[in-house]
Amino acid sequence: MDFELSEEQRLTQKMARDFAQKEVAPHATEWEEKKAIPREVFQHMGELGFFALPFPEEVGGLGAGYVGYALAVEEVSRASASLGISYAAHCSIGTSPIFLFGTEVQKERWLGPLLRGELLAAFGLTEPNAGSDAGGTETTAVLKDGEWLLNGAKCFITNANLAGVIVATAVTDKGRGSRGISSFIVPADAPGFSVGQTYGKLGLRASDTAELVFSDCRLPADALLGERGGGFKQFLQTLDGGRIGIAALSVGIAQACLDAALPYAKTRVQFGQPISKFQAIQFKLADMAMETELARLMTHKASWLKDSHLAFGREAAMAKLYASETCVRAALQAVQILGGYGYMEEYLVERYLRDAKLMEIGEGTSEIQRMVIARGLGC
Ligand SMILES: Cc1cc2nc3c(=O)[nH]c(=O)nc-3n(C[C@H](O)[C@H](O)[C@H](O)COP(=O)(O)OP(=O)(O)OC[C@H]3O[C@@H](n4cnc5c(N)ncnc54)[C@H](O)[C@@H]3O)c2cc1C
Repeated sequence: MDFELSEEQRLTQKMARDFAQKEVAPHATEWEEKKAIPREVFQHMGELGFFALPFPEEVGGLGAGYVGYALAVEEVSRASASLGISYAAHCSIGTSPIFLFGTEVQKERWLGPLLRGELLAAFGLTEPNAGSDAGGTETTAVLKDGEWLLNGAKCFITNANLAGVIVATAVTDKGRGSRGISSFIVPADAPGFSVGQTYGKLGLRASDTAELVFSDCRLPADALLGERGGGFKQFLQTLDGGRIGIAALSVGIAQACLDAALPYAKTRVQFGQPISKFQAIQFKLADMAMETELARLMTHKASWLKDSHLAFGREAAMAKLYASETCVRAALQAVQILGGYGYMEEYLVERYLRDAKLMEIGEGTSEIQRMVIARGLGC
């Protein structure tokens, strides 16, 4: 067993940290205020290779695997969780299904631009009446005169307004239950496709979240991704990988909380000494440091299992559950350590608290993660 990062992984981490600290952190508050991240940021990330990290060299990737990808997501999210979620949604749930289930022609057409960051991707699974129970998908797809006609709507979709391509699920064979759901590759300029309402949110305000609307949306027959009826299995597999992304994002937020709270505690003087000298504050910092490190280790373990082509679904759920709950606790403690200042907008920790909460909801709530883990125990 070796807990050391390889030379290559250290270089990936350094590249991501340099980018995040120099080019993201100084602008993150402004992006939250404007509720948008400039398009050039994604272009630059593409040039630096961020989007190619988790994919193998055969398809134009950098072959850094999920360990390298998790290191990058953590560093980006430590500076801006909004950029972190846009990045993670693009790679692990937007692009991955095309890589995992696409035909050679589909991969040829889409992966190059997606890995270079020339196009962004989104994943349209959730619907107004199908959230945790995504098997209850109501969007339909009917094959007519050699074309698919999609009708329905998706809600809460990350990167909806930014994406050039969306992987979306729809019912193709009603009455076949979960085996009647299929996935489609939807170019953003497909006739009958539009982006609906953009949501105002508690946190992650610079990240784009909106509805997708399919109104007699016409797609060629070869827009079907993988097997007809294979959509349910595909999205479960996609979400397993996606949960590693959310775990890494959560570790980044938890680390940012510690980054803010520790120096503050060492310099804030009350009762004649820095508050870091009070055991009550030390114990909070100790718990934050311990839990962040444990969350990181579990994230790396799930990533390593995936990279080693071993079963990783249960560990990905554990990493996502533990890391997301860790970052919420860390954010609450960071606000507490900063006291009244922690409640103020000028101090970053109130943003971290608002951002952290999504981690317990997106890509399977904490309740759903516990169900996945229990199922893995044979319950
Ligand atoms: C900012 C943001 C970004 C998102 N991005 C995307 C995206 O890019 N693509 C996408 O497809 N979706 C996306 N989502 C949707 C997200 O994945 C869903 O919100 C999430 O899966 C929960 O579904 P729901 O909101 O319908 O809640 P519900 O499923 O209605 O759940 C409500 C509550 O009931 C609980 N619950 C439900 N079923 C059970 C059960 N069987 N046992 C116990 N408790 C249960 C849940 O845990 C939760 O506490 C995003 C959501 C947000 C807020």
